[in-house]
Amino acid sequence: MKSIMIVEDEAIVRMDLVEMLTESNYKVVAEAANGEKAIQLTDKYQPDLIIMDIKMPKMDGLKASKIIGKKYNIPILILTAYSHCEYVEKAKQPNVVSYIVKPISEAQLLPAVEIAMSQSDSMTRLKQEVKDTHQQMENRKTVEKAKGLLMSQLNLTEEAAYQKLRRKSMDNQIGIEKQASNIIKQLG
Ligand SMILES: [Mg+2]
Repeated sequence: MKSIMIVEDEAIVRMDLVEMLTESNYKVVAEAANGEKAIQLTDKYQPDLIIMDIKMPKMDGLKASKIIGKKYNIPILILTAYSHCEYVEKAKQPNVVSYIVKPISEAQLLPAVEIAMSQSDSMTRLKQEVKDTHQQMENRKTVEKAKGLLMSQLNLTEEAAYQKLRRKSMDNQIGIEKQASNIIKQLG
């Protein structure tokens, strides 16, 4: 179940939001009435999505969004009144995925929440893919380096060096990358 934090200074709006989201099977893990509290609660709960009002006492939603965005990769959906449309321009930060104009209707809220969630999922996936690719490249480099050491120190052909590496990794029941880094430690 996806978790959401609601940041809104008007209690009645907050209640409406909680009701709409809960009915749609989202879990509202935290509620805050100002930006400062939002930052504290983000540290504590790290929700999947934050719905954030702009005009609030102590710290406004735009400032809070900026601060949260420096630390977390959590999508933020901004709530705004028609009269505050000029602020929306300022809300263009990477973590602000969309905005909703008050008064909030279910028809407007739920699709916006769904899109924000799926954007954050694909961001997470993309980051993981980049990480995996990076790891694969590192592994390949390690294997190449170990192969090179075996070739020069044992006077082996590339194929023989690779076979030796492979055999050793099977004998030791470890991955070829791990075997390669062991060889680098021994010979390098
Ligand atoms: Mg407000």
